[in-house]
Formats: sequence, structure tokens, C-alpha cells
Amino acid sequence: MSYFKFITKFNGYKKIKYNTVHKILKLICINKLNKLLNIIILILIYRKNKIINYNNQIIRRVWSLMSSFKLKVLLTGAAAVGKTSLVQRFIKNRFQANYKLTVGVDILTKDVEFRAGEIATLSIWDIGGQQRFEFIRSTFYKGAAGALLVFDLTREQTYAETRKWLTEIRQFAGESIPFVFIGNKADLIEDVGLVIDRDEARSFAENEGSIYIETSAKTGINVDEAFTELTKRIIDSRM
Ligand code: GDP
Ligand code: MG
Repeated sequence: MSYFKFITKFNGYKKIKYNTVHKILKLICINKLNKLLNIIILILIYRKNKIINYNNQIIRRVWSLMSSFKLKVLLTGAAAVGKTSLVQRFIKNRFQANYKLTVGVDILTKDVEFRAGEIATLSIWDIGGQQRFEFIRSTFYKGAAGALLVFDLTREQTYAETRKWLTEIRQFAGESIPFVFIGNKADLIEDVGLVIDRDEARSFAENEGSIYIETSAKTGINVDEAFTELTKRIIDSRM
């Protein structure tokens, strides 16, 4: 056998062998391959959806950060009504019974999810209520987005003063500033009795475009709600 003949025969043999193997493999595998391909496609679709969902989450998060509302919120009302206690309860979830005077202003920050997935960053300005701070108070009001107007449910005098507080807020922070009217120290009503007319408080708040909420910094009741409600009102007033 010449070298040339050998090569042709060998190549031919290889070709037949390859074709046969290929055909057999094709027959066996084509169904399985199809299934495998389908599975791969399903995995890819699933992963893509996951990525899309994940991307959606990121986009939502970035959007909420970008458009995140940074709001200056005032805590106002007479001395010792519980402004500092309310903000301490809200931010640190604690209560201190001993009274410490707020000198000038304390500023604390907290993120509030006022609706599912919607976050606002509050910088809460806890303003000293004493007469002697009156001259600097007005400067703290500038740029405020909203206010909690607080009185003490056990001291009628602090309730009577709220109109004056509201006038002051509106004068320095703007006529249409959203606020929430807060009767604090609700836990003491049982012992002390009610010294104000609830219906009157409610209708005063409603007449002024607000709502009336009774809170207790001591038990924590309605404290989160007060801040969340104020945040909602601020955001809604801007829509
Ligand atoms: P601020 O001057 O308005 O900041 O009032 P503070 O937060 O300093 O509170 C004045 C006093 O009232 C403190 O002795 C607090 O412990 C007390 N206090 C504040 N909130 C409450 C409350 O909801 N219930 C009770 N029982 N005491 C409170
Ligand atoms: Mg204080």
C-alpha cells in the first residue's frame, strides 16, 4: 500500500467514524440538549429578573436618597411641657424624669419612613421655651418646614399660651407652615384629671388646618405618630 493510499483510507475511516459518532451523539443528546438549553434560558431569565428587581431597588433607593426630603422641624411650646422629652423618646427611645433646661436650641437628626419606602430626614430643632430666649428664638425659626406645637395636658396655662406660640411660628417661619398640635403628658391625666377641653383643642387644631394628638414622652404613646404625621403633612403640603 502506497503512502498516499494509506492516508486516504485513514482519513476516510476517520470521517466515517466521526460522522457516525456525531449522528449517534446527536440522536441521544438532542432532546437532553434542548432540555438543558431550556433550563439555562430559564435560569438566565430568572437571574435577569432578579437583576432587574435588584436594579429597581437600587434605583428606588438612589431616587429616595436624591429626592430625600431634608426637613427642618421645630419643637415649640412653653417651658417644661416635654419638648426635649418627646425628641429624646423619638430618637433614643428613652425618658428622663429629672428636668434639664434646654439652653437656646438643641438639634437632633432622624430618618423617618413617613410612608412605605419614602424617607425624610428630619433635623429637629428643640427650642428653649423660656422667656429669656425669646430674642434668639426667631432666628431659629427661619427655613423651618414644620412644627410640633406642644402644651402640657396637666397645666392649663401652657394650653392657653399656644395661640401666642402659633403666631410666633407663623410670623417667623411662614404663614402656611404645617404643624401638629400636641397635648403631652397623657400618662398623667389619670392622676391629675383633665384640665383642658379636648373638643376645644381638637377644633382649635382643625380650624388652624392641623390635627390634635395626645402624647406621652414617658410611655412613648403616639410619639412616633406625632413626628410621622407632621412629616406627612409637610410633604403633602409641597405636592
Ligand atoms: P421642655 O422644657 O419642654 O423641653 O420639657 P422637658 O422635656 O425638659 O420636660 C419637663 C419635665 O416634664 C421633665 O421633668 C420631664 O421628665 C417631664 N415630662 C416630659 N414629658 C413627660 C410625659 O409625657 N409624662 C410625664 N409624666 N412627664 C413628662
Ligand atoms: Mg427642653
